[in-house]
Amino acid sequence: MENIGRREFIAGALALLLPAIPDRAEAAKGRGVRVKLPEFPFQSTVITGKKKGKRILIVGGIHGNEPGAYKAADILRNVEVEKGELIIAPRSNFLSVLANVRGYNGDMNRKFAQISPKDPDYPYVKRLKELIKEFKPDVVLSLHDGYGFHVLNKRFWGQCIVIDEDVYNGYPLGKIAREVSNAVNKRVQKRRWKVPVFNTRTFSPDTEHPEQRRSLTYYCLSKCNVPAFCLEASKQLPDLETKVKFHLLMMKEFFRLYGVKIKPDFDTLLSKTKELLDSKRLYTARIRINGRELEISSSKTFKVPKGSTFEFVAFHGSEGTNVISRDVNMNWRSFTVRRRISFEVKDDFKKVFKVRLLVT
Ligand SMILES: [Zn+2]
Repeated sequence: MENIGRREFIAGALALLLPAIPDRAEAAKGRGVRVKLPEFPFQSTVITGKKKGKRILIVGGIHGNEPGAYKAADILRNVEVEKGELIIAPRSNFLSVLANVRGYNGDMNRKFAQISPKDPDYPYVKRLKELIKEFKPDVVLSLHDGYGFHVLNKRFWGQCIVIDEDVYNGYPLGKIAREVSNAVNKRVQKRRWKVPVFNTRTFSPDTEHPEQRRSLTYYCLSKCNVPAFCLEASKQLPDLETKVKFHLLMMKEFFRLYGVKIKPDFDTLLSKTKELLDSKRLYTARIRINGRELEISSSKTFKVPKGSTFEFVAFHGSEGTNVISRDVNMNWRSFTVRRRISFEVKDDFKKVFKVRLLVT
């Protein structure tokens, strides 16, 4: 029963995501190979502390080409919480993470005021909104890697803490952000790497950033009465490790202000960031061809006769492992291939191996 329910749920979700799949019936008629890929999961982790305390929601990966943000969020999924509670959604826009683009279906951070149920991002924006409403966090931290260095140019979003107002509904957003900024900057030598506070004044009638009224942080403040901040590292920092470290440095200070304690602590995570990112993994994909399953761990070409079904069933390696194909609309997870297609099994932005399918 449980299986059937699950299948029905997936079918429903796919119908939502894939309003117009061409050639659905073709495989059955023997004119192609039916391909099925697992849906992109919405990942979320709740870690409850031994001692009660404040609850922090960390959102990563709203923009898919910002690995410093989603890798930092992912690292925190493996900590223990000593005091307080953590809710982490590291890959809010998993398709865009795998495609390594800002937003495969447009900018997800402009979809929190309004979104059509036909939008492929709809289920994920809905899940994020539900997380906020369900858990009522004391603060939401939305992680990004912005362009440039804000210290050098006020139009750049990289390397800063973004607030929507100095004070909103009694929440001293500016005061909190400046405390974090001051503490972080004590540890930063290079001037361009300093992390200032960027106030977009989103609620003010004369704001220069009315587009931010469609963002996650504005949604948190205006609709849920939950304070929210954007933590921005820079896309122009020299490497992924440095980007992740800036996110950890900023989060460390937010956690301190909210009294949330984790184990290992942030200083330990900061000293081990490179090894946490570099850990060697064995990646495998489980494939099912006409009901027969096999596991592969390197690039492979399959020749499959017309009328067959070819499925990716599961992956092992990391939470960021999944499959996309650049030969079709990447929102499609069930479709028919007539001649050939190439799949990329990926760990987030990194290509792991290729799978080619030739229809014979
Ligand atoms: Zn971003």
